[in-house]
Amino acid sequence: MAGRRMVTMDGNEAVASVAYRINEVAAIYPITPSSNMGEWSDEWSAKGRKNIWGTVPSVSEMQSEGGAAGAVHGALQAGSLTTTFTASQGLLLMIPNMYKIAGELTSMVMHVSARCLATHALSIFGDHSDVMAVRQTGYALLASASVQEAHDFAVISQLASLHSRVPFLHFFDGFRTSHEVAKIEELTDDDLRALIPEELVAAHRARALSPDAPSIRGTASNPDAFFQAREACNSYYLDCAGHVQAAMDQFAKLVGRQYKLFEYLGHPEAERVVVAMGSACETIQETVEHLVAKGEKVGLVKVRLYRPFALGEFMTALPRSVHHIAVLDRTKEPGALGEPLYMDVVTALREAEQAHIHRFHHQLNVIGGRYGLSSKEFTPSMVKAVFDELGKSRPKRHFTIGINDDVTHLSLAYDPSWDIEQPDVVRALFYGLGADGTVGANKNSIKIIGEDTPNFAQGYFVYDSKKSGSITISHLRFGPRPIHSAYLVSKANFVACHQFGFLEKYEMVEVAVPGGTFLLNSIYGPDQVWGQLPLEVQKGILEKKLKFYVIDALKVARETGMGVRINTIMQTCFFAISGVLPRDEAIEHIKKTIEKTYARKGPEVVRKNFQAVDTTLENLHEVKTAGLQVGGAARPPAVSEVAPEFVKRVTAIMMAGQGDLLPVSAFPVDGTWPSGTTKWEKRAIATEVPVWEQALCIQCNKCALICPHACIRPKFYDPALLATAPATFKSMDYKSADVKGKKYSLQVSTDDCTGCTLCVSICPAESKTEKGVKAINMASVLPIRDGERKNWDFFLSIPDPDRRTLKLDVKGTQFLEPLFEFSGACTGCGETPYIKLVTQLYGDRAIIANATGCSSIYGANLPTTPYTKNGEGRGPAWANSLFEDNAEFGFGMRLAIDKQNEQARELLAGMGTALGDELVKGLLTADQTTEAGLDAQRERVKALKAKLPKLATFEAKWLSRIADSLVKRSVWIIGGDGWAYDIGYGGLDHV
Ligand code: SF4
Ligand code: SF4
Repeated sequence: MAGRRMVTMDGNEAVASVAYRINEVAAIYPITPSSNMGEWSDEWSAKGRKNIWGTVPSVSEMQSEGGAAGAVHGALQAGSLTTTFTASQGLLLMIPNMYKIAGELTSMVMHVSARCLATHALSIFGDHSDVMAVRQTGYALLASASVQEAHDFAVISQLASLHSRVPFLHFFDGFRTSHEVAKIEELTDDDLRALIPEELVAAHRARALSPDAPSIRGTASNPDAFFQAREACNSYYLDCAGHVQAAMDQFAKLVGRQYKLFEYLGHPEAERVVVAMGSACETIQETVEHLVAKGEKVGLVKVRLYRPFALGEFMTALPRSVHHIAVLDRTKEPGALGEPLYMDVVTALREAEQAHIHRFHHQLNVIGGRYGLSSKEFTPSMVKAVFDELGKSRPKRHFTIGINDDVTHLSLAYDPSWDIEQPDVVRALFYGLGADGTVGANKNSIKIIGEDTPNFAQGYFVYDSKKSGSITISHLRFGPRPIHSAYLVSKANFVACHQFGFLEKYEMVEVAVPGGTFLLNSIYGPDQVWGQLPLEVQKGILEKKLKFYVIDALKVARETGMGVRINTIMQTCFFAISGVLPRDEAIEHIKKTIEKTYARKGPEVVRKNFQAVDTTLENLHEVKTAGLQVGGAARPPAVSEVAPEFVKRVTAIMMAGQGDLLPVSAFPVDGTWPSGTTKWEKRAIATEVPVWEQALCIQCNKCALICPHACIRPKFYDPALLATAPATFKSMDYKSADVKGKKYSLQVSTDDCTGCTLCVSICPAESKTEKGVKAINMASVLPIRDGERKNWDFFLSIPDPDRRTLKLDVKGTQFLEPLFEFSGACTGCGETPYIKLVTQLYGDRAIIANATGCSSIYGANLPTTPYTKNGEGRGPAWANSLFEDNAEFGFGMRLAIDKQNEQARELLAGMGTALGDELVKGLLTADQTTEAGLDAQRERVKALKAKLPKLATFEAKWLSRIADSLVKRSVWIIGGDGWAYDIGYGGLDHV
């Protein structure tokens, strides 16, 4: 078919492009990492783009995935070609309708970017635990392994579904295939029209409900009929695999790419074979090709159609020479004899033997392993370890790969330095800041190289899940052949650091290959920069003989009117020095892209970008490293020496980006983590921070109230404490009608501040003599950072004012200790000041039921947690259930706490004599509406707990375990977007 173009796009767009053009109705609900498929469809529909049937598909966003599945079911029953996109828990919410749709033999395809299911923790990353949880619904499951396959299988599955009447779930790996940008051949509308015959659509339509030919579907069935009717669909499932292969063959005839239900690759006489599905097949294929070239007899069976499982085709795919099979599953089923694909392979071999289609005259040894949960890297070195295990006389029957399991010792050892990437593939890594445009620029670079040259290109982008000041790492590959490396770049020819501060935190030159290129965005020029580099960076540059370039990108951006957007500048540097394209040709391409991208924004924006490109080249300097010596300061440790043991042993490793190296034994077994760990993170992401001008301050504390990160705090205190204050610590007399003779200080934690400027904006105190000067003003952090670190530590050592004495107005609440601090919420977040305020007021007695959303991410995104404890060890206890059930989750907490309180009171009432009437009466009648009342009740509970063990009765023992519930507890429901309710004794109060 003429007119096919090579394009660069990610897996989500590649799938949506086909699904949108084939279908008439889409009912959607966004869930990461599938959201973009629905968003693309929504956008195309809004713009009036027509499908191959000449009409604009109807795209509706529902209230949940459950709603989307219901709408899909309805649209199908009414005869439309209908689709949806989902993942993870979203897919689980669709299960009831999936049973119905399959039970009614209804043709449709849903597209799933497979994602981890929340268990001990939520994860937005990819594995097969969601799709494996629907394998029993009656849907056919078709797995694609690459962006091209995902594009192609979107139509193959539709054709097979229309033929077979079995609904299909087409899946691909979330946050690998879904987000990998690759160069693919795009199917044209004519291709799609040629592949989806109108007669099949007509047959689908003819099965729809219609008042013109009415029928009844979805009856309630009794024991006399249900079973037999359930078996009546069998032949459709028996025929389904044949329809899929026929669709694949028809596709191959038209397009040229031939797929099989089970595809074997490798040595024709392989003795060791791995069976797998999804993107891992790409990496296994690359490794198998490498090992076979070295003479090893190894192979791979790619599973494309997982359900229905085609026994004969599977057996045919296995080479007759195979003796040892390792089945890899990207999911975990605790307590099962093995994971699903392993169990299917074992069953298949046994079935084949019994059905006499077993072609082997020798015993086959099958082992099963888990890999890649939550997008854990799966690399060629791990594939090699699996093949090595298969070569052993007594391999582990069940294993894991990619982690170090030092508890149950299931993991296989592997050599991470084993590398098979070809030298003619250019590998580049870019370390950028979330908002600096690095990812966008790299996507443009992939387009330039992928679409304007014969080279193949691949881009994958790793985002830090912190919402402010986050790092993004772009992994790019360019090469003369299709790229099968479905894993991160670990050895790069080109490394670019777009933010100087990252040098202190992340290993970068360490991943450069010897003789590679290192580009640094630096305010220090080629003659000054060396002395500013950490020792490890200097060492890496010299030992690997890296070519080292610097540019002051921010200066170029400012001078050319680009503000803080350094993306075009850094992209120009990449093309100028990486050699991936001839420099002039690359510059021409960049300018063409700029014209395309910014034409809408007017000629001035285009001109500025052009100027930035030209000025970049004048400001890009090579640093001559010959004769330079290693002499910098070493990178500072990730956390302070005084951090708790767990933080030093586990959290700090994760902060440094080395969490993959932690063994199983390092982790809590049930997902329970310590609170109050953001205080050890010290991200130091602000370039400007607020500085206090105490002479102007009216002590309103509004700055502290509005700070989203609890980084600016006031205290009033005894003047004698200033005796040991650092020299630059600021204070003034405390102004108060009630409290006299105290000092007041306002202190910023510069290492935790995000530089959002909200505190300065809200400050009402402005100088009468100097316009624009307030009682706090933003200033460059570097000159004051060391002093402010000492001041912050001293400030923390000052005791907090007595909670019982504070007036709870705007000013007074800010003297209460925040029990939510330094969260990774977006810079200037409007939600977190409220959460912080609620923790100041009630945090020492709070339990939180948090929905899934922004608030659960900034609330408990590992490695650190912002909810913290006061000096007595009390603070909010936090848990997240699901996106959709936190009201019920919180209600359950309230029920339990109220029940415990009720029983504690019942038991107390019967123990008056043994415990003393006064204590019991005090406990039962306590007024807990004030801080003083709460404090008194805590003292009574303390006294009670001291007395109970002496009574040695069952009731006393029981009461001692629930006595804490006698102190009023506050249950909060925090929505995904940060709204908070308190389920108090009086019911539901909006806070
Ligand atoms: Fe808080 Fe923003 Fe002010 Fe920093 S700049 S102290 S984060 S309000
Ligand atoms: Fe002082 Fe301004 Fe803060 Fe009010 S907002 S306490 S005046 S610095």
